[in-house]
Amino acid sequence: MATWKGSIKLKALKTLLKKAFFPTAIISAAIYIYLKHDILSPQTLKLMAYLPFILFFIGLTLSLRFNKSRIFYPLIILTICLFSLTYLPEIIPLHLPDQQLLQMLLGVIIPINIFVFSILKERGFFTLWGIIKFAVVGGQLYAAVWILNHPSHIAYQIIYGELINYSLYAVLPQGVLLISTAAFVALLIKGSFLPSYADVGLIFTMAATVVPLHLKSETALMIFFAAAGLTLIITIIQDSYRMSYIDELTGLLGRRALREELLKLSGSYTIAMVDIDFFKKFNDKHGHDVGDEVLRMVASCLSEVAGGGKSFRYGGEEFTILFPGKEIAAAVPHLESLRETVAKRAFVVRGKDRPKKKPKTAGKASSAAKKLYVTISIGVAMKDKNNKSPQEVMKSADKALYRAKNKGRNCVSK
Ligand code: GH3
Ligand code: MG
Ligand code: MG
Repeated sequence: MATWKGSIKLKALKTLLKKAFFPTAIISAAIYIYLKHDILSPQTLKLMAYLPFILFFIGLTLSLRFNKSRIFYPLIILTICLFSLTYLPEIIPLHLPDQQLLQMLLGVIIPINIFVFSILKERGFFTLWGIIKFAVVGGQLYAAVWILNHPSHIAYQIIYGELINYSLYAVLPQGVLLISTAAFVALLIKGSFLPSYADVGLIFTMAATVVPLHLKSETALMIFFAAAGLTLIITIIQDSYRMSYIDELTGLLGRRALREELLKLSGSYTIAMVDIDFFKKFNDKHGHDVGDEVLRMVASCLSEVAGGGKSFRYGGEEFTILFPGKEIAAAVPHLESLRETVAKRAFVVRGKDRPKKKPKTAGKASSAAKKLYVTISIGVAMKDKNNKSPQEVMKSADKALYRAKNKGRNCVSK
């Protein structure tokens, strides 16, 4: 059990690194460009000022198309914020303190909105929920404009008021610093539980937009907002890829990915069909939820199959493993050890009156927890004279699986 848990942790770290790869690369590139922006000609910089807006527009279109409201609304906020920072002073002449107040207001609006929209569920755009969200965005803008028109009011107190007496490093008003830090920490905490692509993308977006807001450099604003836009576009693409190729329950690649992988096969290859034994009875006895957990556990074993095997969830409690470039004799030992791993792995179900923490003594544990076991049957076939296409090989593996079931299950059949 310990090694299984260890491998889950390692896997979680790997997926986190995978999810953070593009955002890290983009933000690092932005920092590099910002540090070297002196080299860029004024014309280039002028042209680049349009870049964040172009990227935001692409991001908004994609998030609308792919129903990603957690990205869409923060992008709306960012677009309006950047627009008002760059163009509002041209439209309405703002005095310097007002210009600062605008900046500070946005320094509060951006982090709060990114956090709040990150915790809300995807519930569509043209639904009641979607309309409420639009209204909330609109309401904030109205409030911001109102505050700008009444700059001597409470807002000044909140933003510029001093909570504690520190003036040594007072770069930012304490209210703004407190709110943006709190929102960032809250987003980090939220993202530390099974972070999704959107969580990771939004963490980077928050950092990349809130910090430059206070750098007092238009170039920084433009470069980092563009980086945030690009990060969110990539987030949408990665999340959509995940949704179409990865099976949600088990985290394995799904049927669509299998279909594409089958087309890539050439030369010699082996295909195995895997099916959990008596799974219907298992579900009936322990409930569908426990069944789902067991499916996840079996899938985690399959994802670690050795010998270059690639695992897919075929559907229900059936899985497919491809061994590209492997003959059947080379694949079978790996399948045998997979079968053994599954059969030996205990699935612990704690009773309804289960204690929140694991009991310390073994005696107590056995009274509250039950150990369950499942087995799998495997049918395997390779490309040869009789089975020339991947479909034929799969059919043959399916027939072999049928034989494995008839032989008494928990075995591998050729
Ligand atoms: P056999 O050993 O012959 O394979 O018996 P079996 O009961 O496993 O075979 P059968 O194909 O009749 O039953 C498959 C069961 O798998 C039916 C359904 O209850 C269960 N199942 C399929 N998909 C899921 C799922 O996503 N979650 C859960 N919990 N159960 C599932
Ligand atoms: Mg079945
Ligand atoms: Mg079955």
